[in-house]
Amino acid sequence: MARRLPLAPSALLLLLLACLLVAHGEPNRGAPRLTPIDLDLYHSSAHLMEEIKGLVHRHPDKLLMNNIRSGNRGYRAELAVVTYCRNIKEIKDNSKFRILLSFGQHGRELITSEVALRILSILTEEQFLPNVDSVSLNSFLDKLIIKVVPMENVNGRRLVEAGDLCERRNGRGVDLNRNWSVDWGKKEKDYDPYEENPGTGPFSEPESQIMRKLATSFNPHIWVNVHSGMEALFMPYDHKNTTPLGLPSTRMTLLLKELNVLHCQNRCMIGSGGGSVGYLAHGTATDYMYDIARVPMAFTFEIYGDGAASPKDCFKMFNPTDVSTYNRVLSDWSAAFFTIFKNGPRYVDEIHMRDSRPSSWESIDEYLDGYLMDRSSRYGKKVEVLDFGMQEIRTYFRLFLLSFVLLMFMFCSRISKSKFSRPVVPSMPG
Ligand SMILES: [Zn+2]
Repeated sequence: MARRLPLAPSALLLLLLACLLVAHGEPNRGAPRLTPIDLDLYHSSAHLMEEIKGLVHRHPDKLLMNNIRSGNRGYRAELAVVTYCRNIKEIKDNSKFRILLSFGQHGRELITSEVALRILSILTEEQFLPNVDSVSLNSFLDKLIIKVVPMENVNGRRLVEAGDLCERRNGRGVDLNRNWSVDWGKKEKDYDPYEENPGTGPFSEPESQIMRKLATSFNPHIWVNVHSGMEALFMPYDHKNTTPLGLPSTRMTLLLKELNVLHCQNRCMIGSGGGSVGYLAHGTATDYMYDIARVPMAFTFEIYGDGAASPKDCFKMFNPTDVSTYNRVLSDWSAAFFTIFKNGPRYVDEIHMRDSRPSSWESIDEYLDGYLMDRSSRYGKKVEVLDFGMQEIRTYFRLFLLSFVLLMFMFCSRISKSKFSRPVVPSMPG
């Protein structure tokens, strides 16, 4: 026993060393190899924004860039918004057709922001679409104002670049595509907080507040929220498995079918987000744009997905990893957006000519949105309560207006009755 004692620690040490060597020699045998971001193909977020700044600097006659900041509870966000107008002096021309595009709402979907850069490069004629001459391009670009948000979720994207390749949420863990007010906060049975955390209330996140303000002030005819993870062209609704009724829905479907044939080789899934993707999504930007902001055509595009990739291998699942697929996605989808630029106004014109959706409420909505949003910066947390009840407030306000009008009507008709009935009575001979 006495000799054993000095031997025991050395034997244990040897065993431990052997275990360490074995463990080191077989790193995570079962785990898949995760694909890193390929910086030969992809821009870093900083480099991408530098490229865009360069475009704006070289083409001040066509592009304008604004940085919009917002923040609450110690969290800040800043979004760059690039506005294209073929003659920038006409930027305030309300007769122009307005298109709002957002890219990179989810941090891990890097390819979408690459498409944004490509579109801006083509708009400024630094790059070209195959088989499209600049004369025909300019004939329809003349009529447009296009606002591009190249990277909606800058803070989330930074987390991805720091190594958290599966992060889709913003810098404090909220999914920006669940933070809008239509059907906000409803959780499905398969709800996964890592993926879909909707925030503490509708528009609790500075990024969503900035986007809502942008949509309200710009009042676009077309909205496209660009994502990756699959190939699909979605229209409302995301929170239910139906599309809206009537002509707007028909026109949206027709435009999506055209895009599918021309630019997706008919591979893209088409339909309502909620009906096609296999799960319902509550509090999405596109449902808000269609239902509340009254954008006549509101879409979510999913531009690429590798269904065969391991779910943990997020860079591969959401982004092309070889040069030919990367180039194919960029050229197919930038061409798809130019088809929208060319044909979108025609589709929306047809809706406007026959759409009977009331528009008079828009100004009330805008007023309430603006009122509650201004309060938000001043009163911080109180606003979440206001935001949460925004739709209810709006409904009560409408009911109040309606009853006020009815009362006024009854009041006036009573006055006019008594006014006109008085002389009648004495004139009637007993
Ligand atoms: Zn996404």
